Amino acid sequence: MKAHNQIFLGMLLGVIGGLALWQYRPQPGVDATLFRGAIWWLDLFGPVLFIGLLKMLVAPLILASIVSGITSLPDLHELGAIGRKSLIYYAITTSMAALLGLFLVSVIQPGRSAGSLSLRESYEKRQAEIQAAFEAESGGPALDAAGKPKVDYLMRLAAARGEQAASLDRAKFERIAAAGKQTPLEALKATVIEPLLMNPFQSLVSMNSLGIIFFSALLGIALVASGPSGRPAASFFEGLNVAVMKITRWLMRVAPIAVMCIMAKFVAESGPDVFRSLGWYCGTVLLGLALHCVVLFAIAWVWGATSPAKLFFGFRETLLTAISTRSGMASLPVNIANCTENLGVSPKIANFALPLGTTINMNGTALYEGVAVAFMIQLLSGLHDVPVTLTWVNGGLIFLTAVLAAVGAAAVPSAGLVTMAMVAAAVGVPAHYIAIILPVDAFLDLFRTPTNVLGDAVGCLVVQQAEGPRLAAMEAQAEAAERARA
Ligand code: ASP
Repeated sequence: MKAHNQIFLGMLLGVIGGLALWQYRPQPGVDATLFRGAIWWLDLFGPVLFIGLLKMLVAPLILASIVSGITSLPDLHELGAIGRKSLIYYAITTSMAALLGLFLVSVIQPGRSAGSLSLRESYEKRQAEIQAAFEAESGGPALDAAGKPKVDYLMRLAAARGEQAASLDRAKFERIAAAGKQTPLEALKATVIEPLLMNPFQSLVSMNSLGIIFFSALLGIALVASGPSGRPAASFFEGLNVAVMKITRWLMRVAPIAVMCIMAKFVAESGPDVFRSLGWYCGTVLLGLALHCVVLFAIAWVWGATSPAKLFFGFRETLLTAISTRSGMASLPVNIANCTENLGVSPKIANFALPLGTTINMNGTALYEGVAVAFMIQLLSGLHDVPVTLTWVNGGLIFLTAVLAAVGAAAVPSAGLVTMAMVAAAVGVPAHYIAIILPVDAFLDLFRTPTNVLGDAVGCLVVQQAEGPRLAAMEAQAEAAERARA
């Protein structure tokens, strides 16, 4: 059986096994020993070993692939052309994704669906309880003469919601709260500019991909500019790149079993329950992602000279890896292998454009963040601590910050949830309400991550189409000149 079919089978078996295991989840009257034991083993063979090994490769891979990508280009003008075209493509498709999400959420209005209304009622009921308790304790009204909530009461509401969210997942909530305190510009500085300039060794250790990319690009350019004396170091990075890709190939041999464990653990822990009140919201995100993928396939066909069938079959290994790992970073080695081996992209282009795309180009995440924050406004608008409505201005703000948040998000599981605090804060939705969508975040990550990596691969195909022939001609010319000299 071919590798991708094995991975697919692993995924299917994982879902079935996970559903079976879910029956034994901890609940009153059920002995949870079997469940806990099984989750421990699944966690060991899936997330801990397999994703751990993939992640282990990422920092050296980005460093080696970008440096060798640049040093193997015929000249630095070519780097400028590839970089510029990749960035333009990334900016356009990420914006398109965010706009599509906002359009769908305004048309479908998942925040007004029946399931959501029951959610809203529960929030209103809880608010009334907190208001009554606050008024009894403080001996005065919670609202001022104009009907606006007083600051102390608002703080009390936030604390009450915080407690609720904290009981779900305290660590996650703390990160959300910290990120939510920043303004969009502060967040831009903290998530984009400062990481760029970090000590490269620290970047490698902490897997700060923006910092690794920036340093690697600078190093590659300097090695080219150094002429013959830069050659030995350039060859070292070229060799390192080949070796890391070899390890990736070895690792993909055990992918089917690892994917089965990852999926089984995921399904057993979340179960089908979480979708009850958030069904329309999930549906809107999934429809948006599906439509955006159709657009990406069309772009690949028209501007990347790759038919949908060729793209799908050439890319499926990456697709399955992205679904199961929920991490664009962990899928990067497979994406490079698929683009260069199956889709005809020159390694010189893939080695540069893909690590860059994995880090800053997240179409699925941009769409997801836009839909999520607009959904929260539809659902919560009018509560005492959510004095926000979905206007054109707010829509514009959500669009801008969702694109920035997608650029700043790391390509790791649920990273989009953390940067979403910035989008929510920009329009004045308290970050603690992100807890509402927390239960389905990991499920939606299964779909936005493959959309993200598909966007990167299609970008690579478009740049290949625009720059590949010129690159090949220049290489042929250089080889002919070399032969003539010899
Ligand atoms: N998991 C996504 C990725 O790796 C990021 C996100 O959470 O949206 O691309």
